[in-house]
Amino acid sequence: MRIVLVGPPGAGKGTQATRLAEKLRIPHISTGDLFRANISRQTELGKLAKSYMDAGNLVPDEVTIAMAKDRMEQPDAEGGFLLDGFPRNVSQAEALDELLTTEGIKLDAVLDLEAPEDEVVKRIAGRRICRKDSAHVFHATYSPPKQDGVCDVCGGELYQRDDDSEETVRTRLEVYHTQTEPIIGYYRAQGLVVTISAMGAVDEVTGRALEALKSGQ
Ligand code: AMP
Repeated sequence: MRIVLVGPPGAGKGTQATRLAEKLRIPHISTGDLFRANISRQTELGKLAKSYMDAGNLVPDEVTIAMAKDRMEQPDAEGGFLLDGFPRNVSQAEALDELLTTEGIKLDAVLDLEAPEDEVVKRIAGRRICRKDSAHVFHATYSPPKQDGVCDVCGGELYQRDDDSEETVRTRLEVYHTQTEPIIGYYRAQGLVVTISAMGAVDEVTGRALEALKSGQ
C-alpha cells in the first residue's frame, strides 16, 4: 500500500504512522524525522532545515522534495510506504504525483486525521520525545513516563522538541491551515481521502484507521 497521512501538528500522525506501518508492513517515511536526523548529524541540510523548523515554517520545497524522493527510492519502499508529513503543500503533492507517474505507481489512500484545535495545542505542549528513538513518545499529563525525563521503553533521555513551544505551535497550526489543508481538496478530487477522528485512545485510533483504509472511507 502507498499511503499519505495528513493532519494538524499534534493529531498523532507520528504515533499512528509507526503503528500502521508496522501492521501494514511498509516503511514509515517521516520528512520531519529525516530533517531531525540531519540536524543531529549536523549536515548542511540539517543546518538549513533547522532555521525553518525552529520558526515553525516549512523547509523550502526543493530540498524537501529531493530528500523525500531519495528516501522513497530506497529498496525497502519498493512495495509501498506510509508518508508522514509529506506532502505538506500543493506543489509537493504535485511533485509526488509526478514521481509516482514516472514510476507507474499510484497512491492508495490519503488518511486525514482530524482533531480539534484546543486538543492539539494541549497534546503538543505536553509532548516529550525520547532522544534514542523518536517513536517513543510520552505526554507530561496524559501518558507520563514512570520516571521523570526517562523513556520507559529504552531508558533514553526525554526532551521537548524546540518547535513544540506554544508560540511556534501557533505558527505551525497557521501553516497547516493555509498551506497543508489545501492538499486534502487536491486529493479529494482524486477520490483518495479517508477522514477519521484522531480523538480517543491510541489503540482506538489505530483500529479506526485500519478499518477506514480497508473500506476506503
Ligand atoms: P513534523 O515532525 O512532521 O511535525 O515536522 C517538523 C517540521 O519539519 C515542520 O514544522 C517543518 O518545519 C519541517 N517539515 C517536515 N516535513 C516537511 C515538508 N514536507 N515540507 C516542509 N517542511 C517540512
